[in-house]
Amino acid sequence: MDTSRAWAEIDLDALSHNLTVLRRRIGAGVSILLVAKADAYGHGAVAIAHHALRHGADGIGVTSCEEALELRRAGIRSRIVVLGAVFGEEAPQALEQDIEIGIPSAELCRMLERTARRVARRARVHLKVDTGMNRLGVPPAEALEVLARIRASLHMELAGVMTHLAPTEGALSPVAEAQVQRFQAVLEEARSKHLLGAKRLWIHVANSAAILTRLDPLHNAVRPGISAYGVSPDPRIDASELRPVMSVYSKIVHVREVAAGERVGYGGTWAARGRALLATLPLGYADGIDWRLGNRGRVLVRGTFAPIAGRISMDYTTIDVGAVPGVRLGDRVTLFGSDGGRSVRVEELADQAGTIPYEVLCNIGKRVDRIYRGGAPEGRPPG
Ligand SMILES: *Cc1c(COP(=O)(O)O)cnc(C)c1O
Repeated sequence: MDTSRAWAEIDLDALSHNLTVLRRRIGAGVSILLVAKADAYGHGAVAIAHHALRHGADGIGVTSCEEALELRRAGIRSRIVVLGAVFGEEAPQALEQDIEIGIPSAELCRMLERTARRVARRARVHLKVDTGMNRLGVPPAEALEVLARIRASLHMELAGVMTHLAPTEGALSPVAEAQVQRFQAVLEEARSKHLLGAKRLWIHVANSAAILTRLDPLHNAVRPGISAYGVSPDPRIDASELRPVMSVYSKIVHVREVAAGERVGYGGTWAARGRALLATLPLGYADGIDWRLGNRGRVLVRGTFAPIAGRISMDYTTIDVGAVPGVRLGDRVTLFGSDGGRSVRVEELADQAGTIPYEVLCNIGKRVDRIYRGGAPEGRPPG
């Protein structure tokens, strides 16, 4: 760790805690498809998937076949569902590796069927119904036709039916209710026409916001992402029961005193009111510390808040450590996480930067080493 300019600690015990909280919310009969797209929201998909599958997750959801194959190569044997759109040449390898695939349109359904026939595999698919998000999904009016096609195909097998909710505040919005009803109508019609088959399908709607706001019905599977990582999906949703999984740290590489009136960083946007003590951290917006946190955000040093002074640079961030007793070169700095009973939350940083917590997590860059804590030893990634 001594060689790191910045590192992210991933607390696997917090992940299991969050899965337990989610499990309590949803009850025993509902499967958890943990969403681990975008490298598990920056946490490292392989380590997260291994640990989550041993602590309550029943499968892993990702966005692309490449993400799915990375997990298979790392020895993940569970169900893996590609929730996004699978296009052309991605599919054959995924089918060979028994990866389940979301069907977001009639066109992609036909394409996947052709591919499955060509590689002599049976594609296990989840029909995605668009109930109002207007991003991906088969419109309700076409859903039965696509379901019939899947049922009739020798090269496809229906594994699930899903929809995705647009309101970020989940069931607190009447829009969620309207979407749920549209979905329900499709399911009922499909059932009455015997298009859902006899096998136990995964019927899944709920993301984190929906679970935390007690969407009803939850059906028999849910797709939590950000809540498993201990972060609230929306400021209106209380996530205090959850524990943040990721903390980001750096260390002070330079400390200096400046006279009143001295300015800091590009554009000189911060000026010392009196004599000031400044410290420099070797990470910046290239590492995912949002540029918009310049002169706004705060970090923790020795359990004391230290405001960000001036603009964030690509590789460096300067902080005002005048209030930090005994601050020294090499001191650990908490960008988000806890230190000495105080904490900086991802939600707070997102608010200050004018973005959403999802982006704060996903932006944590490649130069920031991921260090895994807690969990069983075999859950740690190699190296
Ligand atoms: C990302 C995603 C989720 C998880 O959303 P969270 O808000 O992180 O819980 C669920 N379903 C789909 C289709 C997604 O793309």
